[in-house]
Amino acid sequence: MSKRRPVVSGPVDLHTHTTCSDGTLTPEQLVREAKRLGLVAVGITDHDTLGGVAEAWRAGDRLGVEVVPGVEISVDPPWGDRELHLLGYYVKENEELESKLRWARGARERRNLRIIEELVGLGMDISYEEVKRLAGGDVVGRPHIARLLVEKGYVKSFEEAFLRYLARGGEAYTPKERLGAEEGITLILRSGGVPVWAHPIKSGYDPSEVEKVLEWLVSKGLRGIEVYTPDHTPKQVEHLKSLAKKRGLIITGGSDYHGPGKNSHGKLGLNLEVPYETVLNLKKG
Ligand code: AMP
Ligand code: FE
Ligand code: FE
Ligand code: ZN
Repeated sequence: MSKRRPVVSGPVDLHTHTTCSDGTLTPEQLVREAKRLGLVAVGITDHDTLGGVAEAWRAGDRLGVEVVPGVEISVDPPWGDRELHLLGYYVKENEELESKLRWARGARERRNLRIIEELVGLGMDISYEEVKRLAGGDVVGRPHIARLLVEKGYVKSFEEAFLRYLARGGEAYTPKERLGAEEGITLILRSGGVPVWAHPIKSGYDPSEVEKVLEWLVSKGLRGIEVYTPDHTPKQVEHLKSLAKKRGLIITGGSDYHGPGKNSHGKLGLNLEVPYETVLNLKKG
C-alpha cells in the first residue's frame, strides 16, 4: 500500500537571515518564531553561508515547520553599476559552492576592514574586533558595523548609520568584490539548486528596466523571481507576476526578515500571501 503524504497548506516565508549572517535570531529562534506565527515553512537564506541550515532543520523537525535551505549571494551583472541579489534554494553542499562562498566571505572581510579604516579616519574609536564580537558568526556585514555605531553613540539609528556612512554615497562607503551574475546562477544550478532573483525593485531596478534585466538573467538560467516582498506595491506585484508567468518562472516571496526591531527589513511572514505550493514548485525546480 502506498503511503499517502499529508496535504500541507498554509503560509510560508522564503527569505530570512539568522545570526549566521546579519540577522539577530539564531536559526532555532527563527524557526520558533515562524511556528508561533503559523508559518508551515520557512526559508533560511543567510548571506554567503549555509551555516544556519542544519540547526534550523533540527528545530524544524522538532517543531513541525518545514525548513527550506537556501543562500543569498550578491552578484554583479555585466553592465556593472548595480549589484543584484540571488537566492539559491535547495543547493547541495559541494566543494565548488563552499569555495566560492568562502571567497565571498573573504571579500566581505577585506571590505569591512576598509570601512573600519575609513571610520577610524573620521575620528571614531572603533575596531574590527568589536564588530566581529558583535556579529558572533562567520559572516560579518555592514549591519553589524551599523549596530556598533548605534551602540557607541556615533549615530542615533541603524538607518542613520547607513545613510551617513555605510550606504553607497556614505562617507565610509566601500564597494565589495562580487561574483558575476552569470557565475552565481551557474554555481547555484551546478549545486542542484534553484536560482531566484531576490527583491528586484529594492536593488534599485526601475520597474521599466526589470523586464530587460530579467530577460538576461533567464537567458543565463534563472528559474524564479521574488515577487512578494514587503517593499513591492500591489502594482509592482502584478507587473512582476505577469513577467514571471510569461516566462514560466517560479513566483516566490519572503520578508527578508533580519530579526525583531527596527532595521528596515520586513516582519516575518507579515503581509505576504505566499502559499505552501511555492515550496513544491521550488522542489520541482
Ligand atoms: P553587506 O552584506 O555588508 O553588503 O550589507 C548588506 C545588508 O545591509 C543588506 O542585506 C541589509 O541587511 C543591510 N542594508 C543595506 N542597505 C541598507 C540601508 N540603506 N538601510 C538599512 N539596512 C541596509
Ligand atoms: Fe542582510
Ligand atoms: Fe538581499
Ligand atoms: Zn536578504
